[in-house]
Amino acid sequence: MKVLKFGGTSMANADSLRQVRDIVAADSLARFVVVSAPGKRAAGDTKVTDLLYDCYRTRRAGGDFEKAFARVEKRFTDIVDALGCDVDLQPYFKQIAYDIDGGASEDYAASRGEYLSAIVMAAYLGYTFIDAKDIVKFDDDGAFDAELTNELTARVLRRVGKGAVIPGFYGQTHGGMIKTFSRGGSDVTGAIVARAVGASVYENWTDVDGFMTCDPRIVENPRVIEMLTYRELRELSYMGANVLHPESIFPVRKSDIPIRVRNTFRPEAPGTMIVATNKFLSGEYTRRASTITGIAGKKNFTAVHLEKQMMNNECGFGRRVLSVLERHNISFEHMPSGIDTLTVIFEAASESVTNEILEELRLDCRPDRIELVRNLSLIAVVGHGMRSKKGTAMRIFQGLYKAGVNIRMIDQGSSEYNVIIAVEDADYENAIRALYAEFEEHEE
Ligand code: ADP
Ligand code: ASP
Ligand code: MG
Repeated sequence: MKVLKFGGTSMANADSLRQVRDIVAADSLARFVVVSAPGKRAAGDTKVTDLLYDCYRTRRAGGDFEKAFARVEKRFTDIVDALGCDVDLQPYFKQIAYDIDGGASEDYAASRGEYLSAIVMAAYLGYTFIDAKDIVKFDDDGAFDAELTNELTARVLRRVGKGAVIPGFYGQTHGGMIKTFSRGGSDVTGAIVARAVGASVYENWTDVDGFMTCDPRIVENPRVIEMLTYRELRELSYMGANVLHPESIFPVRKSDIPIRVRNTFRPEAPGTMIVATNKFLSGEYTRRASTITGIAGKKNFTAVHLEKQMMNNECGFGRRVLSVLERHNISFEHMPSGIDTLTVIFEAASESVTNEILEELRLDCRPDRIELVRNLSLIAVVGHGMRSKKGTAMRIFQGLYKAGVNIRMIDQGSSEYNVIIAVEDADYENAIRALYAEFEEHEE
């Protein structure tokens, strides 16, 4: 049996819901459906989740909450009316408005898009609605409780008859508070359900033909990757390929359940299979040989370069640097080092926090020189093929050199399937296009 997760664009309007129903109806294995909140209907539109965050903020600021919430109501009534769906949403709207107006949390407000979306989809498909708060659990510090969730989800879904629809994106803490995953988190819920029911495949239905070699908003029509390994997925999604949430890999990895990314609007397209790394490396799955599998990146990082004579002999220097970041609750992305130099790269923080970090580094580490570089992008070039092909780094340098892009840092992870490059934010799109051209257009 399968788990099918439908993203925001697939839930955006009545036409896309019809599309979803056709996909589910055509597949006798489609018993468990996870849905996102309605997304954008066209460029410039606003996702229901963002409308809900706006409701929360409007209420806190003492603004016109009713007007803000009316936009949410309209998105759903438009869908239900056009589908002629037999569900009365009024009591749900009343309760949600009452809760948010009464001071419910931001996560509660944000989660109601998925909640309503699942109620509508369950009515439309004739499936049972299962509230994610009863199966997805977090501890009171907000950490996801994977094992309890797995147990509860398996137990509750075992009792479902024809099929179930489950809202994505949120769960509940042991203390009874609604808590969401980070943005895009319905992908994680889909993976949780897939693991709990022992699905044969986790189908992730979205608005593109599959996981592409790079961001289609930067390169026109990039190639769709036929197969990715879990590890490649993790690197690419963490580094910004937001077609799948970077944490969606963990639940399915526990039982080697493949993920298949598919297009709701072109169900005939084969999509992308994402498979267990060990099965790919041992030859159980094969794909066309290529040096790299994909390229992804993110903007807005900060680097701090520290220089100090005899740094190599000074025990605890690195630890002191990282302790400063830790005090500000900042996790570092990379830390390349030389004999007397060390650089830490982290996601940009506010001006005041960055200044405090610099000051504390001066005091705690006493460097001879300290330099701050802002507006850096990190780009990951990922693929198991790199391990056996010579000259990958040379081609990265060559491609970027030809495009006139200055490389600020290069770091090959110990894994040998990932090279990270830092470039200036202004060069980011250019760099992605240059790397795509180097590896995709000239791949022999
Ligand atoms: P959903 O609402 O279905 O979850 P998302 O918007 O979260 O969809 O993810 C799909 C989008 O991810 C695509 O429309 C595309 O613009 C973007 N994207 C970024 N990088 C990639 C990539 N490498 N391959 C495919 N899509 C990508
Ligand atoms: N609706 C949520 C968001 O916009 C979760 C999701 O779509 O996966 O981030
Ligand atoms: Mg998504």
